[in-house]
Amino acid sequence: MSGEAAIVVDVLYPDLLNLYGDRGNARALVRRCEARGIDAAVRRVDIGDEWDDAGCDIVLVGGGQDREQRRVEADLLRRGGQLRDWRDSGGVALAVCGGYQLFGRSYRGIDGEIMEGVGVFDMVTVHPGPSVSRCVGNVAALWEGETLVGFENHGGRSYLNAGQAALAEVVAGFGNNGGDGSEGARVGNCFGTYLHGAVLPNNPRLADRLISLALERRGGDGALAPLDDEAESRAHAEALHTALHRSEQGRLRSALQALRG
Ligand code: GLN
Repeated sequence: MSGEAAIVVDVLYPDLLNLYGDRGNARALVRRCEARGIDAAVRRVDIGDEWDDAGCDIVLVGGGQDREQRRVEADLLRRGGQLRDWRDSGGVALAVCGGYQLFGRSYRGIDGEIMEGVGVFDMVTVHPGPSVSRCVGNVAALWEGETLVGFENHGGRSYLNAGQAALAEVVAGFGNNGGDGSEGARVGNCFGTYLHGAVLPNNPRLADRLISLALERRGGDGALAPLDDEAESRAHAEALHTALHRSEQGRLRSALQALRG
């Protein structure tokens, strides 16, 4: 990196909320910036730190088990106003799984206790308890005419309130709740998703969207030079194949069970 950082990525609680390599999202953003000659830096925001939102371009928060979510809950809540202002002023954010749940209004965890969220997204999440299967597996979802792929593993089911837009439409997998076909949420330039993978290395177009929105917010035109995404495209295609194949197998299994009566 040379000169002053042009894109600053702030990762909230990188040690506590980092399931399935969610920290790779920051690396993907930096790599895609630097490959285009755009300087980029990653900063961490831990419990007790002040968040310098004025110096930030993209906020990332990853997934975590209920225990870790509980550990960050109070600290995240005190940032609620700052994060909602961030959303309302066009700030760019990507929240994944456990972080996504806490960016909603509330999460009733596996133990039945409610965790209050920051309300960036107008949704509530409910864990049906330890006796109900988790939403686990490969996901494919439609996003703006393209596919998003990733891996999900969550017990909580998220329900978007009326007026809250989903990020994508589930093609294979569970997404928000395994029932209404929605995956993730979007308000302004804030994106929420259940997809791990990490999601950005496998979905370079989503990564570029975040970068481009951040550059626009800085007054640029957001135009990005294309990159050689051969490896990323291959990873995306493989994840898509796995997700579709698994869901087809599931459908066949259910059809056979139904036939056997
Ligand atoms: N603890 C949450 C759940 O089980 C989130 C899990 C995750 O981030 N993968 O729903």
